[in-house]
Amino acid sequence: MSFIAGRLSAIAPAETMEMAAKAAVLRRQGLDVISLSQGEPDFDTPEHIQQAALRAMRDGKTRYTEAAGVLPLREAVAAKMQADHGLAYGPDDISVTAGAKQAIFNAFLATLNPGDEVVVPAPCWVSYPEIVKLTGGTPIVVECPREAGFKLTPAQLEASITPRTKWLMLNSPSNPTGAVYSRAELGALGDVLRRHPQVWVLTDDIYGKLVYGSEPFANILQVLAELQPRTLVVNGVSKVYCMTGWRIGYAAGPRELIKAMNLVQGQSTNNANAIAQFAAVEALTGDQSCIDTFRFAFRERRDFIVDALRKVPGLEVDLPDGAFYAYVSCRALMGRQTPSGQTLSSDREFVPYLLDEAQVGVVSGTGFLHSPYFRVSYAAGIAQLGEAARRIARAVEALR
Ligand code: PLP
Repeated sequence: MSFIAGRLSAIAPAETMEMAAKAAVLRRQGLDVISLSQGEPDFDTPEHIQQAALRAMRDGKTRYTEAAGVLPLREAVAAKMQADHGLAYGPDDISVTAGAKQAIFNAFLATLNPGDEVVVPAPCWVSYPEIVKLTGGTPIVVECPREAGFKLTPAQLEASITPRTKWLMLNSPSNPTGAVYSRAELGALGDVLRRHPQVWVLTDDIYGKLVYGSEPFANILQVLAELQPRTLVVNGVSKVYCMTGWRIGYAAGPRELIKAMNLVQGQSTNNANAIAQFAAVEALTGDQSCIDTFRFAFRERRDFIVDALRKVPGLEVDLPDGAFYAYVSCRALMGRQTPSGQTLSSDREFVPYLLDEAQVGVVSGTGFLHSPYFRVSYAAGIAQLGEAARRIARAVEALR
């Protein structure tokens, strides 16, 4: 019998991180690899946030904090919830975590009993189903095709709910597709949820500030406030303030759930990094103009990469409304042969081919539970994106 616990047997490693690691190995071998696989901005953390961290260190804010997070940060999150979404939360309704990922983990560990189901619309972020499995639940993956904008329909939601359903995961703008739910779409999903009062909603708003379409971002609570007693809002500073390595996320929700999440955290990491928490206070309360700068840059890059990839015969991609990802269909390339004689039968074969042949790292749709696609992260400079698109085009052209 293996020494490793049985609960890990069905857990897949994050494909996004695996691809980034493979690209790093090739780079160390001296190859000129362009990695568009990592879900993180290429910008530095803004200077005023870095300075806040230095001040925190010098002021001795280097000790354990409350499991829930330092009060100034929870107050800042509460103020942001009010200002951005018109949602009322007090500091005791907020839990600060080591990244949004840990907020999701804590919420599921605190609530899922064996056999409890979580509805996960796919394509979805690689970690959702794995976190559900790790914490003892059962992910119910619902495939949302490109024709439906990669979004869950009310009929699909209705059909996926059973007496064991505990949570619905919503992620808008979405990783990996960039799809953004409109207020009308959220309202229609809310109508279904009204009929199923046992189902809670976890809305992952981490890309909420990175929306490029005409309709501004809204989460389901802004459309249907009555869901607040059974909704957990998850967010963080990683993506919007370019702070992925600082590891600060947070969740706002009903106090009983937040308390249970704090209990989990108190017996695991204890608290998110103290210095990073004070840096996050500055991120949320300081100068916000950096967000516009980043959003403008991402929008320009989105237009550029989508245009470039659409010119490659065999690839198809829709203009994403948010986040910094494009989800590209490579369906037309299936069945073609690589110069070394391999017949491509899935995105899982096409993506390594791109890395070996073109030295471009992307992530296969298999990891996001919707194939045959691949995800391009366009959080990279225009020059790099241009070179990546040229290489992808050459690699596709070389297929027979
Ligand atoms: N949620 C989504 C949809 C993501 O794409 C990511 C990161 O890729 C996270 C959450 C995790 O964010 P954090 O770095 O704050 O843990």
